[in-house]
Amino acid sequence: MDSRTPLSETLATTSRHLKGLAEIGVQTVGDLLNYFPRAYSDFSQLRKISEVVLGEENTVVGKIQKLRTFRTPRGKTLITAKLFSADGELNLTWFNQTFITRILRNGDEIAISGKVQISPTGKLSMISGNFEKISDEMLHAGRIIPIYRTHGKLISSKWLREKIYPLLDFAKKIPPLLPREICKNENLMNFGEAIRQIHFPDSFEKLERARESLAFEELFFLQLGGLLRKLDWKRGATGSGKKIPHSPELLAEFAAKIPFKFTRAQKISSAEILRDLKKDLPMNRLLEGDVGSGKTIVAALAIFLAVRAGFQSSLLAPTEILATQHFRNFLKILHPLGIRGGLLTGSTPAKKKKEISAKLKSGELDFVVGTHALLESHVAFQNLALTVIDEQHRFGVEQRILIKKNSTPHVLSLTATPIPRTLALTIFGDQDVSIIDELPPGRKPAITRIVPPKKRREAERWIESEVQKGRQVFIVCPLIEESEVLEIKSAKKEFKRLSEEVFPQLELGLIHGRLKSKEKEVVMRRFAEKEIQILVATTVIEVGIDIPNATIMLIEAAERFGLAQLHQLRGRVGRGSDQSYCFLFFESESEDVRTRLHAMEKISSGFELAKMDLKLRGPGEVFGVRQSGIPDLKVAKLTDYEIIKKSRNAAEQLLADDSKLKNHPQIFERLREMERQPVR
Ligand code: ADP
Ligand code: MG
Repeated sequence: MDSRTPLSETLATTSRHLKGLAEIGVQTVGDLLNYFPRAYSDFSQLRKISEVVLGEENTVVGKIQKLRTFRTPRGKTLITAKLFSADGELNLTWFNQTFITRILRNGDEIAISGKVQISPTGKLSMISGNFEKISDEMLHAGRIIPIYRTHGKLISSKWLREKIYPLLDFAKKIPPLLPREICKNENLMNFGEAIRQIHFPDSFEKLERARESLAFEELFFLQLGGLLRKLDWKRGATGSGKKIPHSPELLAEFAAKIPFKFTRAQKISSAEILRDLKKDLPMNRLLEGDVGSGKTIVAALAIFLAVRAGFQSSLLAPTEILATQHFRNFLKILHPLGIRGGLLTGSTPAKKKKEISAKLKSGELDFVVGTHALLESHVAFQNLALTVIDEQHRFGVEQRILIKKNSTPHVLSLTATPIPRTLALTIFGDQDVSIIDELPPGRKPAITRIVPPKKRREAERWIESEVQKGRQVFIVCPLIEESEVLEIKSAKKEFKRLSEEVFPQLELGLIHGRLKSKEKEVVMRRFAEKEIQILVATTVIEVGIDIPNATIMLIEAAERFGLAQLHQLRGRVGRGSDQSYCFLFFESESEDVRTRLHAMEKISSGFELAKMDLKLRGPGEVFGVRQSGIPDLKVAKLTDYEIIKKSRNAAEQLLADDSKLKNHPQIFERLREMERQPVR
């Protein structure tokens, strides 16, 4: 038997169980050993009911009786029960956890953890304890018990425990994949032991060490893969890049057309980009910078240079509003320099589309700004040398089509999700990273306030007085994730209420995703030209919109957004020299909501907020979409900064000594396997 042995050959079980396992991707011995618990129950510290310690967390075992459900006069659901054991009884209470009535029955045996108190009537009681139904096996084990993600009726946690436990002896014999020096230098737990401890830990300390050791290995392979792809690509693509040179004269020509000086960080990033562009190796670089840090102008410089070198450029934006705005800004800067551009979006009329396509093909246009429409098959270029992808995390794999089709142009991706450099390198493995880590001078952070419902009127009156002083306002309607239609409906209602009841004497505009692009454009233009004072919007305004005179951002139901998104929205104000404000309204409150919204009040750095969001909600939420290339990690977390750093160093070191992994065939083989596995 080895890790690759099919379970059908070794596991004493039914074909229905095997089918169930296959459905969750578990087919070999190795797969099963790598099916890690999602949580643990601690039965090593069981206490008898007669021995519980008051005011402390206790885990006790007993039988449920007298299960009852009540509704309180204030509309809450109250569930009570008694827990009996041989040596005592305990009153149990849960608030608003109606699902419990579906899981628990009188007579069930459970283990329950929580604080134990003495009730006014002198009874022992536990409120909102966490419980699990138990089986004999758990009780007898008297240890930390793994809880697995279950699948259907057959693949239960108990069943998985029974099947995995006997494999642990075998696990001990699996040779470690990582080179011995790395294991030693990093003080990693022996691989087989780590597998044993992650499933059936002897203690929480050992569990944590096992997790760290396995996380190291996981992050090591993830980063090694990225580094290797980068190396390969450099080897393969050398000579195919279109060299884009620069000169002091060209840079001066560009600088003369913009009304400000580059910040230090913009200069450093541009220098990194320019260095890449003049090589015959296509650039693949991520430009990362907080909202408002001025990424666009750096991209414009690259486009300018590409055109001067006789090539075409394209810019891909995630929404029409953004594409249109970019196009206008670029025209302002590039048109006076004699550069010709086109705009191509989903709502460009067919005839116009054809015309633009033809001009791109013939080389009559130097650059094109567009949305997904640019990726359509009939759009072809004469000699595309540079593609800029704005808000790259909004795009999935389809962006690669554009890149492939045009014989690998230089690629510059922009992102405002401020993630630490090491993390960016991990996630976007094969890209180089430049960071703009300062804002243009004179920016004041927005003053951010959580507004409790009773202060709403006051806030509205204040906004009105600010508008009378010439300021403009964004009002963002509640995010409704499940349905754009519902979201727009509620935005329309809100717009009506605001224009008729709250701000009848002001000019309001409404913008949402279902407006025709012409309509959107009209609204945005009227807002930019100050005809509209308050813009009511759905989250379509989230990214990129740049209206310096707008100084107030009001966000409804702020609790529905993550920190990174709130920060993006807040980034729509504070773009001019006036003090700006961000008001956070909320509909429902909880501990978690308070933590998040308070963070917005205190922290103005997107970098810090993203870090916090990663911790609170996880990477999928921070970056929005699933296909954003964020790896699905098994044990590692993207907040394991220290392990990320160490494993990256180890991976770099390994490649420095053995760039083709000739001396590490098993590692090479493992990477190949990882590539074959479909990304979920
Ligand atoms: P983002 O990085 O969020 O895409 P933008 O590129 O939209 O930011 O820039 C935000 C605003 O800052 C724009 O109005 C832009 O003209 C301005 N800006 C960019 N760089 C500078 C600078 N060095 N000095 C002053 N203003 C700048
Ligand atoms: Mg931008």
